[in-house]
This record gives sequence, structure tokens and C-alpha cells, in this order.
Amino acid sequence: MIKNGIQDSVAFTGKERDGETGYGYFGARYMDHELMTMWLSVDPLADKYPSLTPFHYCRWNPLSRIDSDGKMDSLYLCGSDKMKKDALIFMQNQCGNLKLSEKDGFVSYTGEPKTEKEKYIANLISDKTIYVELWLKEDNILPNKKQINEGGGAYGGNFFIYDNKDSKEIEYVWATQYINVKQAKKVNQNGLVFWHEAAEAYESALLSREKKVESPINTDSPDCNYREAHKNASKLFPGDVIIENGQYHIYSL
Ligand SMILES: [Zn+2]
Repeated sequence: MIKNGIQDSVAFTGKERDGETGYGYFGARYMDHELMTMWLSVDPLADKYPSLTPFHYCRWNPLSRIDSDGKMDSLYLCGSDKMKKDALIFMQNQCGNLKLSEKDGFVSYTGEPKTEKEKYIANLISDKTIYVELWLKEDNILPNKKQINEGGGAYGGNFFIYDNKDSKEIEYVWATQYINVKQAKKVNQNGLVFWHEAAEAYESALLSREKKVESPINTDSPDCNYREAHKNASKLFPGDVIIENGQYHIYSL
């Protein structure tokens, strides 16, 4: 989240946050619908997982991975190889005792987490009940036709995957977040933007699971828990950005 200057930032109460979502009026459901139109016929497992996912844009199917080892790495980068590589370099800056790596988009780590941030990151990566997907983009365009603002990231909402289609048991929560890599690199702050966005998606998923209510991307929806998720994520990874004399600064509310 970002403002165009201190003045705006001071004046802001609720609007700035809406800005981070790109004024989203586009929930995960709607996105699913759009993807379903495009992909349903080509997905043999669509019946098992009626909520189709943006994975299909990546031309890669996570379901085979679930089947093969019964679990799933839970932080995924979706984007070009170059963007994934760039993102990982920045993300590495926040966790010096961990060695991050990426394969087929999945982020994993080796090493012993020592700092509070590292422990949080290690937990996020290994939590199989919450799936965080970071869409790495070269532009600011969101699926709702709105824009990622100068902060470089945008909230994407979440939805539930049930263990079977008649079940009420949530198998995992699928949370999406958007990052304009070029912009996030400009904001930099040692890769803080990347982890703020990942943490925001994760916190949002925790809240949704607790309430048993999916969070749409649209911040006007009473079910959207963006504000709380942003606040929780900001405890370790501040995500409020201002530009002052052309310099980016991150501050905690
Ligand atoms: Zn945020």
C-alpha cells in the first residue's frame, strides 16, 4: 500500500487501503468463473476440485503434486522465470539464516529459522493448510481491470478447497496476492514488500478459516478481511509506504 506523498498519507483513513486492492470488485469466485470458462474442458480433475485456480494460467497443475506426495508446498510464485528469480533474491534478504530456493514456482527453504521473521516465513512455507500464491507481474493490471498502485502489491482474497465436493471440511485455504515485481524492487526495503504481501495473504487465510468465511478481493464486502490481514501482516512486515522527495519509506501504522 502506498500513497503519493506524505500529505495524502496523513489525510488517509480508509481509502488508501482500498487503493491496495486496486478498488477490487472482483472476487475469487468471479475470477474462477472466468477461468472456468476458459479451462474447464481441459482439466480432468475439475470434478474433484470444482474451484478452478489460477494455476491453469501457469500451464502447470498442482494437483498432480498433491497426488504424488500427499501434500503441497504452500508458497507458490506464478510468473516468468526471470521474475521468479528476481523475487527470490529480494525475499532472501529478509531471512539470512534460511536458504530459499524455488522449483516449478514452489518456494522451499533449508536452514534453521532463528529470528521472529524467519520463524514466520518458515511456518508460512511449510503450512500445508494454507496455500499462498503470489502472482508476479510486469504491469499493474489486476484481473478486475483495476491497478496495482505504487506500493507494488495488491490483495487478492481467498477461497476454500474442500477435501471432497460433498464435504464441509476445509482441506486448505487458497490465498492469492499480486505483486508488480518492477515496482516492488523500486520500493525495495530489502524485499519487505514481497513478504508483506505473502504475510497478508496468509493472515487473511487464517482469519477466513477461523470464521469459516472466504474473503473476496472487494474491500467493500463485509466478508473481506483485508484490513485486519494487512494489520496483522504489518506487525513483522510493515506494508505502508510513502514517497518523500522521490524516496520510498515504509512505516508501521
Ligand atoms: Zn497490505
